[in-house]
Amino acid sequence: MKILVATEKPFAKEATDGIRQIVENSGNELSLLEKYTDVNDFYKAVADAHALIVRSDKVTAEVIKAAQKLQIVVRAGAGYDNIDTAACTARNIVAMNTPGQNSNAVAELAIGLMIYMYRNTFTPGTGHELKGKKLGIHACGNIGRLVASIAKGFGMEVYGYDPFISADYLKANGIIPLSSAQELYSTCHFVSLHIPATEETKKSIGYELLSKMPKNGCLINTAREAVINEPELVKAMEERPDLKYGSDMMPSNAVEMKEKFGNRFFATPKKMGAETAEANINAGLAAANQIVKFFQTGDTTFKVN
Ligand code: NAD
Repeated sequence: MKILVATEKPFAKEATDGIRQIVENSGNELSLLEKYTDVNDFYKAVADAHALIVRSDKVTAEVIKAAQKLQIVVRAGAGYDNIDTAACTARNIVAMNTPGQNSNAVAELAIGLMIYMYRNTFTPGTGHELKGKKLGIHACGNIGRLVASIAKGFGMEVYGYDPFISADYLKANGIIPLSSAQELYSTCHFVSLHIPATEETKKSIGYELLSKMPKNGCLINTAREAVINEPELVKAMEERPDLKYGSDMMPSNAVEMKEKFGNRFFATPKKMGAETAEANINAGLAAANQIVKFFQTGDTTFKVN
């Protein structure tokens, strides 16, 4: 079987080497398309592939149409909003993610952003400490729970809201469960966002929630920009000169945000959360192993469609 790795933003070399080893040792063939700038190159490369590994690359209906032999696509990462899962399902193509494999990298970045924002993005002036502050984890999945455990080490009080996880489970993970997003935002100095981007969550974080935050409220977003209602974020930050926003995604209105809010706003130039060698290796190797297992035994453990 031909397994294509199509990465506009390539994996670290150790990850690509590891993927090659897994693919070739299992008697399959690896094809690499890295740093492509023209989507037509992607269409061409995928034409004879039986399996596809991507990172943030968009697997659109057009890609699926071009991939007439495709049986499985794996997003090396947690969020799979870059994959048209309906188009995959329509063609009986299995879509998977690799949950948990890059969570630690993202959790560490979230904590780093918290410090950076509370120290005025390292510009002169008096900042604040994390110790004793209340942290709200908005969605307590793999990344949220790791952020919670690191934050405990800083002496933060950790709260969480996740309607799909039981209160007992959150408590067992050192998180004080709250029963609504409203309660989370009105309680916590920091809110760290970890909700997936879905039809329900897109643009769901806006004025109503942000304007409820206590003094020196700071929103940290390592989830997806799509979940933010950008005009409402601007409105809340205009009204409340104490609010801050630190993001791992460049908002579409980044220039306006920088102009209006200076060092109360920061966004990484490119999504950096999973950009560690460790996370690349974990997610890349997991993707390769999942594909090999699928071809060998039909295993679909991490299927999302
Ligand atoms: P996960 O699947 O382990 O956890 C997601 C959690 O969200 C689940 O516990 C689920 O119950 C909860 N949830 C879903 N809808 C919700 C809602 N409406 N309100 C509250 N909670 C809700 O995923 P994860 O590994 O923790 O990743 C979370 C998100 O982080 C991903 O979906 C992805 O978008 C993003 N992510 C970003 C990077 C990056 O590079 N910045 C890397 C990995 C993941």
